[in-house]
Amino acid sequence: MLKRLALFVCSLALLSGFALAQNIADDSANAPRPVKLVPPPPAGPVYIRCGALFDSKSDQLRQNVVIAVEHDRIKQVGKLSPPAGAQVIDLTNLTCLPGMVESHTHVFLQGDRKPGQYDAQLLKQSVAYRAIEASTAAHAALDWGFTTIRDLETEGAGYADVDIRNAINRNIIWGPRMQVVGRAMDVTGAYPLQPAYAWDVQVPIGVQTVDGVEGARKAVREQLSHGTDWVKVYADRGGRIHDNINDTIPTFTLDELRAIVDEAHREHHRVAAHATGLMGVHDAVEAGVDTLEHGNYIAPEDMKMMVAKGIWFVPTPYVAEYDAQWRAERAGTQPQESPGLKIEEDTFRRALQAGAKIAFGTDVGAFEWDMSPARQLVTMVKWGMSPAQALRTVTLRGAELMQMQNDIGTIEAGKYADIIAVQGNPLSDISLMQKITFVMKGGVVFKR
Ligand SMILES: [Zn+2]
Repeated sequence: MLKRLALFVCSLALLSGFALAQNIADDSANAPRPVKLVPPPPAGPVYIRCGALFDSKSDQLRQNVVIAVEHDRIKQVGKLSPPAGAQVIDLTNLTCLPGMVESHTHVFLQGDRKPGQYDAQLLKQSVAYRAIEASTAAHAALDWGFTTIRDLETEGAGYADVDIRNAINRNIIWGPRMQVVGRAMDVTGAYPLQPAYAWDVQVPIGVQTVDGVEGARKAVREQLSHGTDWVKVYADRGGRIHDNINDTIPTFTLDELRAIVDEAHREHHRVAAHATGLMGVHDAVEAGVDTLEHGNYIAPEDMKMMVAKGIWFVPTPYVAEYDAQWRAERAGTQPQESPGLKIEEDTFRRALQAGAKIAFGTDVGAFEWDMSPARQLVTMVKWGMSPAQALRTVTLRGAELMQMQNDIGTIEAGKYADIIAVQGNPLSDISLMQKITFVMKGGVVFKR
C-alpha cells in the first residue's frame, strides 16, 4: 500500500513537472516583449564614403575608399561608386577604422583606485543598481568607439555581466559585443573586502573563493554553467619592488592553477590570469593560461615561455599613470614616475622585442568610465610601438585574442560592419583615437 502511494505521488510529481515544461514551451508565442533601444540595420545597402581608411592589415592609410554595408555585414571595400538613389553616409572629412576591441574592462566598476570607492560599491549598492550603472558603462564604451570588449569580472556582482551581454545581444540596450567571466577566482583570505574588516563582521568578497584542486575543478564547472565565456584567476597579489623586480605573493598553488586551466580547456573555454609580478606570472605561464593580464614584471625566461606557448599579453600601463596622476593631484605635486612604472615600461619593451602577442586592455572601471580607454594608446606608442602597431593591438589583435577574427578586427568583406571614424590621421597623432565621432556597430549607426 505504502509502495503504491509512493508511486502515485511520484507520477503526480512527474506529471506536474511535465505540465510546467509544456506550459513554458507553449508560452513562447506570448514571451515577454521588452522595449528594444537598438533598431535593426537598414533594409537596403548603405555606402560609407571614407576620406581615408585604416583597415588594420596595412601600415598605411588608403585614400577615398567606399565601404558597402549590407544588413549587419561589410559587403565590399574599395573605389566603389554607389548606385543612384542608394543611401550614402558621407565621412569624406574623416578617417575610418575598424571598431576598437578592449580586452580588459570592468563595466561593474565605476572607479576603484581611490580610498573607499571599491567598498562603497560592494556595501552600499545593490547588484540591481550596479547592473544599471554597468549598462551605462557599456554604453560609454561604445560611445568611445569600442565595439567589442572582454569584461574581466563583476567584482561582487555575481553573473550579472552575463545578463548585460545578453541584453546587448538581444538589442535591448546599446553596448559593445561582450565576452564575460562572471566571478573571478582567488584563494581564501586574499581578496577584498574580507581581509579589510573585523574578523567577526560578514562582508562580501569581490571574487569566488576557491581552494584545492577539487574545489578548483568544481568552481570552473559551476561558473561555466552560468553562461560565462572565460575563467579568470588572480594568480598573485601585493608584493614589493627590489632589484628592478616586482616580487608578488602567489595565490593558487601550481596544482590548483593547472586544475583550473585543464578543466576550462576540457570544456572549450579559456583562462585569463591576473598576474603582476615574478611568481604569479611564472606560475600562470607554467600552468598554461591563455591570457596574462597586467604582467607589470615578467622574468626573461617566463617571457620566452609565453612566446613559445603563444600566451597573450595584455599590459595595462595607463592605470599606473592614472594612479600617479591623482596621487600627485591630492598631494599638490607633480606626478612622479614611479619605479613600478619604469619596470612596466621595461617589460613592455622586452615583450615587443621578443615578439609576444600583445592585445590592448586597460582595466577601465578601475579608473572611471568618463574618459576614453584609448588614451592608453599614447603610452603604448611612447613605449616603443609604432602607431599602426598600437592600432592593431586595439583592433585585429583583440579580435584574435577573442577568437573573433573571422567577424571583427579589420575592415574586410564578410565581417561585421563595426566601423568607427575620427577627424585627422591617427597614424601621425595617436591621441586622436580618444575623439571618435562616428560609430557603427553591426550596420547600425550609434553615433554620428
Ligand atoms: Zn582588471
